[in-house]
Amino acid sequence: VTVGGAVANDVHGKNHARAGSFGHHVRALELLRSSGERLECAPGRNEELFRATIGGLGLTGLVTRIELALRRVETACFDAEYLKLARFEEFFRELPETAARFEHAAAWLDGLDRGVRGILGRANRAAPGARRRPPLALTFPCTAPAALLTDASVGLFNRLVWRRQRGAVARRLVHQDAILFPEDRLLRWNRAFGRRGILEYHALFPREEAPDAVGEVFDRVFASRERFYIGVLKAFGDRARAGLLSFARPGVSVAMNFPFRGERTLRLLDELDRVLLRRRGVLYLAKDARMLPAVFRACYPEAAAFARFVDPRFSSGLWRRVTG
Ligand SMILES: Cc1cc2nc3c(=O)[nH]c(=O)nc-3n(C[C@H](O)[C@H](O)[C@H](O)COP(=O)(O)OP(=O)(O)OC[C@H]3O[C@@H](n4cnc5c(N)ncnc54)[C@H](O)[C@@H]3O)c2cc1C
Repeated sequence: VTVGGAVANDVHGKNHARAGSFGHHVRALELLRSSGERLECAPGRNEELFRATIGGLGLTGLVTRIELALRRVETACFDAEYLKLARFEEFFRELPETAARFEHAAAWLDGLDRGVRGILGRANRAAPGARRRPPLALTFPCTAPAALLTDASVGLFNRLVWRRQRGAVARRLVHQDAILFPEDRLLRWNRAFGRRGILEYHALFPREEAPDAVGEVFDRVFASRERFYIGVLKAFGDRARAGLLSFARPGVSVAMNFPFRGERTLRLLDELDRVLLRRRGVLYLAKDARMLPAVFRACYPEAAAFARFVDPRFSSGLWRRVTG
């Protein structure tokens, strides 16, 4: 991920509850407009354009310089706790303790288990001087034949992950990559999904609505023939959105990677959109390949205000689709 890309989608980590999103740490940026003008944007200087550029999908101009607030860390390790959740609802029960005791947290979900069980990984930076090697990274060698990943083979893998941890809780010192970039243990993992690839549905619901909304989403999935092979629950903190079109906001998000099976996958996601709109949720544009204008307008009512800041010579397939 580049710094420009991190600004354009105002990206978040597993620590939004404590740290907010990327945009909360941008002090200033330089924007090159198609007119050739270079604009300094920061709180107090071209502030509206600054807010539009954070999470602005790269449409307000080219970010050519950025001033970022960073935090010094004294070790590349985390003290991690892994908690088995027999059903996804336990994630919500654990929210107060997770928020009180841990800086980073996300739950992996077994999308083939009817209770959607999972493992909640939560962690804090370890004491200075702690050392661990980065986890070994393998590279998926080539694009798989579609048949490689099936409900049966992924179900088996998920059962192995679930059983590998014997106790309900495991605590250990881990390298930061195990917490911050768990997918990078298998580089180019997307190849495992074959040529048709995956569609990720990443929705965020207001906190009070989230347990029922996520439950309803899972009910809809299980009522269909589609299954998600990678699922993640994350809690977001109370900080207001950093940018006009930022996705990161107070609430709980659920991300589900569905193997793309054409019309039938799209039909399910349309149905999930109806749950989303009724439950006041929002879809993450960074992960989107199919959102329709009506859903976009409902998720991002600020879009009309944002449009004023779009550089007249900038556009994208996503922007044309969602505003078409
Ligand atoms: C496997 C996977 C996991 C992910 N996990 C997360 C996650 O946990 N949290 C999260 O928030 N997001 C996540 N994302 C989304 C990802 O962080 C965003 O899509 C991010 O914007 C990608 O940045 P990039 O540098 O790769 O940019 P690109 O994909 O190349 O571009 C993304 C956008 O940034 C714009 N852009 C890039 N550079 C500039 C620039 N200099 N000036 C202006 N605009 C620019 C582009 O125009 C484009 O609109 C994930 C994506 C994948 C594929």
